[in-house]
Amino acid sequence: LSVSEYLRQHIRTVPDWPAPGVQFRDITPLLQDPQVFRVLIDAFVHRYMGRGMRPDVVAGLDARGFILGSVVAYELGVGFVPIRKKGKLPFTTVQETYELEYGSATVELHTDAVRPGDRVLLIDDLIATGGTMMAGKKLLEKLGAQVTEGASIVDLPELGGSQRLKDSGLALFTLVDFA
Ligand code: 5GP
Repeated sequence: LSVSEYLRQHIRTVPDWPAPGVQFRDITPLLQDPQVFRVLIDAFVHRYMGRGMRPDVVAGLDARGFILGSVVAYELGVGFVPIRKKGKLPFTTVQETYELEYGSATVELHTDAVRPGDRVLLIDDLIATGGTMMAGKKLLEKLGAQVTEGASIVDLPELGGSQRLKDSGLALFTLVDFA
């Protein structure tokens, strides 16, 4: 059994949540089982421990990106910074607004979270349209950092988000595809 298949078997699909017609890919079972959680985290850690792959900082996207990103950063021995939904961060921030299917969303990052030239690994649980990860990349670039790779557990390639991110020049590392 490949790591990808093993992880896939522990992702729960919830039909019609949060809206009719949506098949939500629920990653909480991956976290709940300690053996699966270790396989998941180690898949990221092994990649970014590798020669030339170790980032200066890990940035996690609100909110499941915090769970993964903080553990990966800890294991890599680098710092973790949160990219949060608007209104949650107390210090001065940079902001980026992006379009959703209905309306828009704004994400924020503390202005001292990264320094110019920092090599940043950007982590979330899932890439759908790619809008969230693209906004995170823009925030980090506003502060002069370089996003060396975007990583997530799940990619939904049929939504085209991962392709758009790659077309923008962002390298991606994902573990499980769902059609
Ligand atoms: P995007 O911005 O790529 O369209 O959507 C990705 C963001 O929405 C991620 O932050 C992710 O956590 C959340 N998201 C959207 N759909 C799903 C889903 O089916 N499962 C999970 N776990 N997260 C989702």
